[in-house]
Amino acid sequence: MKLVLATHNQGKVRELTKMLHNRAGAGEPVEVISLQNYPNAPEVVEDRQTYLENAVKKASVIAEYTGLMALADDAGLEVDALNGAPGIHSKRWAGANATDAIRIAKLLQALEGATDRRARFVAAIAVVHPGSDPEGVLGVCDGHILHTPRGESGFGYDPVFVPDGYEQTFAELGENIKNKISHRAKALQQAIALL
Ligand code: IMP
Repeated sequence: MKLVLATHNQGKVRELTKMLHNRAGAGEPVEVISLQNYPNAPEVVEDRQTYLENAVKKASVIAEYTGLMALADDAGLEVDALNGAPGIHSKRWAGANATDAIRIAKLLQALEGATDRRARFVAAIAVVHPGSDPEGVLGVCDGHILHTPRGESGFGYDPVFVPDGYEQTFAELGENIKNKISHRAKALQQAIALL
């Protein structure tokens, strides 16, 4: 079965591909196809009010364009001391062209002096079979934000996020552990049932 991943984020493509290939008890193998194979695919603007609506929008557009089953995710980091920000705006929070380092710097500055460092990653995953109604699921990973970045792996806010039950950041824990406990992993475990 062919499945297009509706994302240009190569960090996510790596994570999702690994998780899909490792899926337990799988029937038909999944052939994962990256959007890099579709250089003229339409850009999808993530302008909806919820993670799930954004994921459904991305997966629907790409399923229609490619004629293949499509999977899209939308995720964000919700920080309690910032009333849930950056949340749905996590990507553009520090400006459209910001790097991960700039996003992290802005987050740490916003949290300067804050003792409440609680935060969670939330991910929605939508699966769309061409011609069918979209389906979606949510995954959450609770944790806290450090004062300084640590670790090299992953992407985004990984170097400052320590998931509950661990002492290391997502960027220190590495892909193998992150892919078992992350918000996206939890959503994907449910999404696999929709394939
Ligand atoms: P997106 O809209 O799903 O691409 O996610 C928005 C932003 O949230 C990304 O650009 C990252 O900065 C952040 N984000 C989402 N998932 C993760 C993750 O697994 N680790 C670190 N940052 C993430």
